[in-house]
Parts: sequence; structure tokens; C-alpha cells
Amino acid sequence: MNSELTILIVDDMEINRSILSGIFRSEYNVLEADSANKALKILYSGTKVDLIVLDLIMPGMNGMEFLRCIKEDKRFDNIAIVVNTQSGDQENEIKALELGADDFIMKPYNPKIIKRRITNIIEKYIYQKNVMESSLKDAQERIDNLIDTVPGAIVIFEMEEDINISYFSGGLCSITGYTEEEINMLEDIFTLVHTSDREIFVRMLENAKNNGVIHCRVRMCHKHGGTVWCGINTKKTVTSSGKCRYNMVILDLTEEKKAEQRAERSMLELRYRAEHDTLTGLLSRESFYNAAGKLIEKGDSEYIIGYWNIDRFKVINELFGRDNGDMILCSVAKWIRESIGRNGICARFEADHFVTCTTREFIADNMDNIGKFLLGEQKWNSLNYPVLLHVGYYEVEDKNIMVNLMCDRANMALQMIKNNYMVRYNYYNGTLKNNIMAEQEIVNDMNDALSSKQFFVCYQPVVDTITKRTVSAEALVRWKHPERGIISPGLFIPVFEKNGFITKLDMYVCEEVCRHQHEERLKGHKVVPVSVNLSRINFYNNDLHKEILSLLKKYDLTSEDIKLEITESAYQDNPEDLIMAIDTLQKYGFKVLMDDFGSGYSSLNMLKDCPVDILKIDMKFINDIEYSERASSIVYNIINMAKTLKMETLVEGVETKQQYELLVNMGCDNIQGYYFSKPVSDEEFVNRIIMESVV
Ligand code: C2E
Ligand code: CA
Ligand code: CA
Repeated sequence: MNSELTILIVDDMEINRSILSGIFRSEYNVLEADSANKALKILYSGTKVDLIVLDLIMPGMNGMEFLRCIKEDKRFDNIAIVVNTQSGDQENEIKALELGADDFIMKPYNPKIIKRRITNIIEKYIYQKNVMESSLKDAQERIDNLIDTVPGAIVIFEMEEDINISYFSGGLCSITGYTEEEINMLEDIFTLVHTSDREIFVRMLENAKNNGVIHCRVRMCHKHGGTVWCGINTKKTVTSSGKCRYNMVILDLTEEKKAEQRAERSMLELRYRAEHDTLTGLLSRESFYNAAGKLIEKGDSEYIIGYWNIDRFKVINELFGRDNGDMILCSVAKWIRESIGRNGICARFEADHFVTCTTREFIADNMDNIGKFLLGEQKWNSLNYPVLLHVGYYEVEDKNIMVNLMCDRANMALQMIKNNYMVRYNYYNGTLKNNIMAEQEIVNDMNDALSSKQFFVCYQPVVDTITKRTVSAEALVRWKHPERGIISPGLFIPVFEKNGFITKLDMYVCEEVCRHQHEERLKGHKVVPVSVNLSRINFYNNDLHKEILSLLKKYDLTSEDIKLEITESAYQDNPEDLIMAIDTLQKYGFKVLMDDFGSGYSSLNMLKDCPVDILKIDMKFINDIEYSERASSIVYNIINMAKTLKMETLVEGVETKQQYELLVNMGCDNIQGYYFSKPVSDEEFVNRIIMESVV
């Protein structure tokens, strides 16, 4: 018996049903329904039916209507239908076949024929079912294999109020670390998505409801902790029965994400390197310009650009080596960065050039601190050597000026004080700009001025304190500029000292003086020694003495006809070379004066090392010698000390009778100053000597 197959007999006539049941019962399961409605009930209840024998003529819903109803319902696609007609009712037969009936049987029933027909249909149906099943299985296998080869996971689900997963591939287990059973036990699929990314995931599902394929990137939670970056594609499909189904593909993006992160890190590192100075970690020039521009533009504070520079950094490098030099740069950077904190930004532009952009309040509130730092008084420097700095400030008033120009201006303010020990910081202002322009003019014109003899020498007499007679003179240079008139040396000497031109000018003055002495002697006039100023830069020149000696020779003079003035501050720059040069010059018979004595910070040190012949006491002591006991006592002691050291004393800047008389009493040897004479032209000076000789 083929009891797995069920035949449903639908007929209102009991006699027909029992005949037909009798025919099939031995081989099939047989169900009976005496109306179309009852038959539908059986079918809708889910009872498995393989074939229906249907009577066309029934009260209520007739066979045709029942047939139409069954054929329209996809669930009953696999049920074969055999229509039961009266013999000769061809019209109904055709209609039934059109409506999808598979065959028909006729009354009166011939059991043999009926059995055969039904068996044929059932065999055909079973055969078809087998074929379908095997091709389905085949397709399923193909899909399974395909899914296995697809990287990642596939999830199929329906989404009404909840999400019902109808299928997920093994990939979901590999991605999440959960077993199939564990995933089945999960309350919902959201549990697998990282809490921070659930919103994205939900939004994606919402979009999927409306817009076909939707993509998102979320972190999935791994069973053993940690997260897995995944790319998710979801596509809505509508089944043939009208249901919405969602296909989701989940790809593990861990490797991709790692590569992305590596690339991102490299990019960040590259950018950091481009934006920072590798030695100190401060900003580089370009990034400082950018950052300072933004800071200033934001405009909630007033800003100052600072341009910082270490004094004679080259010397530090030479004395202590590059590594120590680098260490000093790092310490300076650290001090600046830590002091500024959140009050601004800082950069190293190159070498020992540091630049800051800070609020004005910061500079104002930290005056003392910065002052100590500039003087090397703070413990940031581990070298046993004083490291000092200068800083130039530019106060930002016009925010539209380019930051690089602001930095240039701060640098200009710095350059103005670079060699000044006493002044450690300087503010840029309009005058400074004009000074710089004027400096530039001086530089532009200097070579022409020298070759066209625009420089000339004035002589300021030096008199003996007791006899009041002129015993010597100081040669002081002037510039007679064709457009600007007489320019004072105070304006151009510092410029020439910066650019080195001073050595040429000093030799020029020296030659002019030699010519003057030579001509006076030829004329038979009395000649007194004239002292010539030698700027500090000359002491880097080992042949200095040779050049002066050759001038003496050229004008037939001896080393007694000129004296040499060296400013005290030259000692601070380059003590070794200075001591050697003084020694050499003295060996050739020159008298050396120490100019501006007492103005620098190492006067006494210098006196110990440099046995000069004449101490020329700086005029700043003389200014208040009449009113300040302290000042007069200092001058008195200097004069006495010089005597003990067998040095002559000369006081400059004496302007009044009282000053002169005080100095006479102190035992000063010689005096120079407006009280006796201002610097005068060579003719005037010659006349003075002649007059004195006559008296
Ligand atoms: P210095 O060598 O200290 O020269 C003395 C300066 O004091 C001169 O100014 C002089 O005119 C001025 N002076 C003299 N007596 C008095 C006085 O009683 N009261 C006042 N208030 N001033 C007085 P000057 O000629 O303007 O020179 C300024 C500086 O220029 C000099 O200072 C010197 O450092 C430099 N200088 C001048 N000529 C030369 C030169 O040929 N070579 C070098 N290297 N420097 C020079
Ligand atoms: Ca002088
Ligand atoms: Ca002087």
C-alpha cells in the first residue's frame, strides 16, 4: 500500500464516495469531504493531500469554483486534481482541464480504468516531485558551496516588529566566535553589534526597508571580547508569496581596517614630521605661520610675536661640540614650551632661532621669569657655561599683516640688540623700521663713500691735567654724505661693525691720520700722537699689526706717532685674540688705550689679563661726579688702581670746570672733553697746536 500518499474524495453523493474509497483504500490514504467547503477546511488545516478526486456538480460551492480556488493558492501547487464527470459531458471536461485539472474520470466508474488513471497521475506526480527534489537538493548544495567560498557571512531574515533570522552561514560563527547553537539562542541579531554602532545598524535596516541595497560599517562583538570591523550589505527582496525578506552579507574588514589604520598612522607621522622640528619637537616654520595665523585671526586676545636667539651659539657648538649644542637647543625649546603652556605656540625656525606667538598678558605677567631666562639665570642649562638669549618682540596690531612679516619684524627688533649685553629684549616699532631703512641706506652707500672720500677725520684734543696743554688727540671719523649732510659715527659705526666694513674704515682713518702727521712734520709743525679707534672686529685679523706698520712706513712715521684705542667690550667677545693682539702691538712700540673703561661687565677681569698702557675712563662716571660721592669715589679708586698698575689715566667727557677740578685733585693724568674742546677739523687742530707753541 502506498499509504504515504493521500487521496481526498470530494463528492456530495455518499454512494460515489464509498465506491471511490473502495477502489483506492487498499493502496492509499483516503479522506472524504461531502462538500467543497469541507474539502477546503481539510486543506487549510494543513493536512497533507496529494490528489483530489473532485465532483463538479455539488450544492453550495460547485466543483469548478473549488478548482479555481485551489489553483489560485500557491500552497496547493503540488496537489494533483482529477475531475469526476458524467460520461459525455465534454463541455465540463474541457472547462475543468482549462482550469488546471490534471485528468478526469467518468461515471459510471470502472474501477480498473479509474485505478489506472489515478496510478498514472500519481506516478507522474511522484516522478516529477523526485526530479524536483533532486534538482532542489542540487541547487541547495551549489548554494551551500557557493556560500562557503564567499568571504564573510550571509544572513537571511524577515523583519516585522522583530527580526527573525531564517538562515545564517557558518561565516557568522567565524566572525563572531559564537557557535551555531549560541547564535540561535541569541535574543536578537543586535546583540552581535557593538553598542556604539547599533544606531548605525538600525538606521541601515530602516533604510533597507525602503531603498534596496544598503551599506554600512560597524563593529561586531566577538565572543571572546574585542570587536571585529565589518562591512554590511543588506538587500530587501520580496518573495513570490509577497513576503519581505532581507539578505545580508557581512564581510570581515579587520585586515582592511588594520591596513587603513597603518596608513593613517604613517600619514599622521609624516604630517607630524612636516609640521614639527625633529630635534626639539616644536612647530616648524610653515606650520607656525599657519597656526599663528589662525590664533591671531580668532582674535579673542592680543598677541605678541617673539623672536628668540641664543647669544653666540656658534661658540657653544665649537667649545662643547654639536651634541651639547643640540642639548642646549632642546633645553631652550623645553623651557619656552613649558613656560608658554596654553598661552600660545612656539616654533624653531632654524639653528638657534626660536619663535613664539603668545598673548600680551603672558609676556606682561612673566617679565621677571623671562628676564632671568634671557640672562641664563634659571636652571635650564646643564652646561658649566653661561648661555644667554635675546628676544625681539612684535606686538600684533594689524591682523591683516602676514605672519611671516610679523616674524621678520620681531627679528628686526632682535637684530637691533643682538650684541648688546645690557639690553636683552626689544620691541619693534615704527622708529625701528625707519632705523632699519636708514641702516640699509648706509649699507648701500658705504663703498662709494669710501672711494669718493666722503669720510673725514676730526681731532679732539687730549690735554695734560696740570699744564692744560694738548698732549695728544683722538681721531674721530665723520661722514659727509652728499644728500644727508654730516652723519655722526654713532649712526654708521654700529652698522659697519655688523657687516664688517668697519675694518676698512678704521684702516682708512688710520691712513688719514698718518698722512696728517706726515704733512705736519714736513711743514715743520709740532706733532702730537693721535689715537685711532680700532673696532673689535679687527682683532680677528692676525695681520693687523702688519697693516698698521706698513702705513707708518709709507708715511715715514714711528709707532710713537699714533696710539690705538680698543673698546673694553671687545674683551667680552674674544678675549684670547684681543690679549694676543695687544701684546703684539705693544711689542712694536704702540701705546694701547682701553677705551670706555668701566662700561662693560668684565672691566676688572679684563684689567687683570690685558696690561694696556692707558686707561680711558668712560664718560658715564663723569656725568654725576660732581653730585654723587659714590661716582667720584669710583673714579678716584680707578685712577689710583691704574697708578699702582703703572697705567696712565685719561678721563673723557669732561664738560665742566667742577669736573675738571675734581679730576685734577684725584691725580688724573690727562683729560678729553668739551670743557677743553669739541672734536675739530684738522686745520683747527693744527692751529691750536701752533698757538700753544707760540704761548
Ligand atoms: P668714543 O671712542 O668713546 O669717542 C668719544 C665720543 O665722545 C666722541 O663721539 C666724542 O665726540 C664724544 N665726546 C668727547 N667729549 C665729550 C664731552 O665732553 N661730552 C660729550 N657728551 N661727548 C663727548 P663721536 O665722535 O660721535 O664718536 C662716537 C663713537 O664712534 C666713538 O666713541 C667711537 O666708538 C666711534 N668712532 C668714532 N670714530 C671712529 C673710528 O674712526 N673708528 C671706530 N672704530 N670707531 C669710531
Ligand atoms: Ca675712542
Ligand atoms: Ca670712549
